[in-house]
Amino acid sequence: MQNGQLAKRELGWLLNSVGLKKKHLVCPIFVRDRGNKQYHIANMPDVAAITLEKTTTQIQDIIELGISSIMIFGLPAERDDVGSQAVSQNGIVQNTVRKLKMEFGDAISIVTDVCICQYNLSGHCGLFEGKNDLVDNDRTVRMLSDIALTHAQAGADLVAPSAMMDGQVTSIRSSLDEHGYKKTKILSYSAKHFSSLYSPFRSIAFSKQIRDYKSLDKSSYQISYSNLRDCARKIENDIREGADMIVVKPSIMYLDVISMVKEKFGFPIAAQTVSGEYAMIKSAANNNWINENEWKVTSISALKRAGADSIISYFCKDIARLLDCR
Ligand SMILES: [Zn+2]
Repeated sequence: MQNGQLAKRELGWLLNSVGLKKKHLVCPIFVRDRGNKQYHIANMPDVAAITLEKTTTQIQDIIELGISSIMIFGLPAERDDVGSQAVSQNGIVQNTVRKLKMEFGDAISIVTDVCICQYNLSGHCGLFEGKNDLVDNDRTVRMLSDIALTHAQAGADLVAPSAMMDGQVTSIRSSLDEHGYKKTKILSYSAKHFSSLYSPFRSIAFSKQIRDYKSLDKSSYQISYSNLRDCARKIENDIREGADMIVVKPSIMYLDVISMVKEKFGFPIAAQTVSGEYAMIKSAANNNWINENEWKVTSISALKRAGADSIISYFCKDIARLLDCR
């Protein structure tokens, strides 16, 4: 056996030794509502925003690798003041879910990102109160519930509110139940930390229409990394409100949060490695500064070891291939 193959086999064993299975992997996909070509993301090598048409082959590849779960992020053709495309029955996420459920049925579990920031002109996760720049929590929560409902109606298995608004889980749960979607689960972004690690993703989702996207300040609703108690309180609230699983995001710098949730609440957790974490490993590897496979495995293993039940990562397909090398 060649050295490279031997190294991959060893990495596959390492993943297995921390208990990682393919069923724990959730593969993010970006779907764009404009043009007919896929769009490579400069700051995220090997990741593309694909067209609705291309989703079929993408999901076929994912299923062939043994991954059974995806998370859809939509990139609409147009933004407006209130992010109306987010709630449209013919929005990009809604159309993608409908198409994939028709083509693949239960072979793929679909999680949808429920937020407004990719659809409005401010890039913020909430709607503003009148002319001032304060986020109107209650109005935003009502809109998030409407978005989640359209995703459930399209066929989403799980909806994932990521706006960090107070009361978003209660409101979404009651709207889903009221409309007969009791089986649709809620994966709540309870611990989404304020961070510049989201910038590589924003370079594609925001840069065209929001010139100063790099200086977007979401600290009034996202969590500060300095306050573990506040983080625990947010998580506890979301569990009480009816979340089925909670997300910790970013991931690798928040292993203590993952362990804390596991220990304190014994509740299902998904850890999401964000675009900046991906870009750090990819850019260092592309410069030959680190061994890419080793670092993918080290970072993903650490999340599993800390207590993550699911892992949302741009490395999912590579990790599935390494698991096959054992
Ligand atoms: Zn958002």
